[in-house]
Amino acid sequence: MPTEFRNHIAGEWVAPSTGAYFENRNPADVDDVIGRFPRSAAADVDRAVESARKGFRIWSRTPGPARGAILKRAGDIMTERKEEIARAATREMGKVLLETRGDVQEGIDTAYYAATEGRRLFGHTVPSELPDKWAMTYRRPVGVTGIVTPFNFPMAIPTWKIFPALACGNSVVFKPAEDVPHTAHLYVEILLEAGVPPQALQLVHGFGEDVGAPLVSHPDVPVISFTGSTETGRVIGEICGRMHKRLSLEMGGKNAQIVMPDADMELALDGVLWGAFGTTGQRCTATSRLLLHDDIHDAFLERLLARTRELRLGDGSKADTDVGPLIHEASLRTVESYVEIARSEGEILCGGARARGDGLENGWFFEPTIVAGVRAGSRLATEEIFGPVLSVIRFSDFDEAIRINNEVRYGLSSSVYTTDVRTSFRAFQELDNGITYVNAPTIGAEAHLPFGGVKETGNGHREGGWEVYEFYSETKVCYLDYSGKLQRAQIDNY
Ligand code: NAD
Repeated sequence: MPTEFRNHIAGEWVAPSTGAYFENRNPADVDDVIGRFPRSAAADVDRAVESARKGFRIWSRTPGPARGAILKRAGDIMTERKEEIARAATREMGKVLLETRGDVQEGIDTAYYAATEGRRLFGHTVPSELPDKWAMTYRRPVGVTGIVTPFNFPMAIPTWKIFPALACGNSVVFKPAEDVPHTAHLYVEILLEAGVPPQALQLVHGFGEDVGAPLVSHPDVPVISFTGSTETGRVIGEICGRMHKRLSLEMGGKNAQIVMPDADMELALDGVLWGAFGTTGQRCTATSRLLLHDDIHDAFLERLLARTRELRLGDGSKADTDVGPLIHEASLRTVESYVEIARSEGEILCGGARARGDGLENGWFFEPTIVAGVRAGSRLATEEIFGPVLSVIRFSDFDEAIRINNEVRYGLSSSVYTTDVRTSFRAFQELDNGITYVNAPTIGAEAHLPFGGVKETGNGHREGGWEVYEFYSETKVCYLDYSGKLQRAQIDNY
């Protein structure tokens, strides 16, 4: 009998109000059941929010440095348990261990950044325009935060949100993706062990419609942080807009790697292989388009094909695996539907089918796929696929590459391989993305820098670095007039 997991609500590990559970299975071997997780409903969200309101009163009054010390302990425990968490994440999400170790490390880095931020959370002291008057700002927690996360970074993305939310003094109701509930469970366990007050941290498992939707529309949750698809983000945005909530949206991408004729070709090859097929293409920053200059197009493709054919598919926990499975059957069907489109929109040079063979029968494996001859503006060139499918597009000069990069509705990351300094700086200035890399792939964000995208990838907020602390706190402006008389700003001093 598989282990039955619980929600964490009001300081206790509890069964869902529905009494119902869902199974979490390994995408590399669907016969491997990891556990049964609560199929919660709105009533569980209500209880969680009620507890988080109480938790907010305790946690928001805990001094920032003391909060930081607890987050530091969480980082230490994560460091001790890094391998165990990485293995759990690979088992439920599928990506290779090398990557889930990185996923956990990003969480650790975020913990240590948040821990020290507990001693900063700077405000400003500003001169007043009037005599004997003091003016300053400080950062104040907002309240209960609702955290809704996707499956592809089971540890990093929850930590990007929850550590800064807690560092600022907010309480948390966490709704993880239903595909990766075990990693979420381990994270919450660690936060509690580190000393986060149990009322300040709730974990409610379940599906988007059943748990995510009531959390987003709960009147006592003023802050929502969401990462996931642009389609779900739009629905959440409409609700939060109507309810005047503070909302951070991190959504889809259609990222391009541009290779100029002056590039180091070996470096560009390493970059596109890691960018396109790492995490089986299931990264918001995955390289989904490869833009090749006419002069190097054929030679580059030939070498790329040879390298792609060498990639070994398999269980992500095995040392010799390069590419793991897709997350579930629905995702495999989506990828198949894009391969159908590829038959008319381009030429499939490799892959293009569900991968069968030794050790692959029981998982959602798809062959790394390269489609050449894709036209800018076509569906393959503009829609997020979220799988191991790379669309190759030709261009003849950098102006055209910029135009192709910018024509999609998304704007997360971009990459240019070049040895020309002018091309590099033009890329920084003219590519419409939140992140641009030169001589590095479209993936590779670091925890202490802001992360996010423009256009339909985001709504202007950033995760990571120093900027996210602004999202999770309010600026309070304080004036103290010790003149002993009525002083009217803009009037008495002019
Ligand atoms: P998804 O939108 O299907 O689900 C994300 C989360 O939203 C899950 O927890 C889900 O249960 C919940 N949800 C679903 N419907 C909801 C609703 N009506 N109300 C509230 N919550 C709801 O996304 P996914 O398949 O888990 O992740 C893949 C997507 O995430 C891709 O589009 C990818 O680009 C994006 N992503 C973006 C970033 C980024 O930082 N920009 C990072 C990772 C993933």
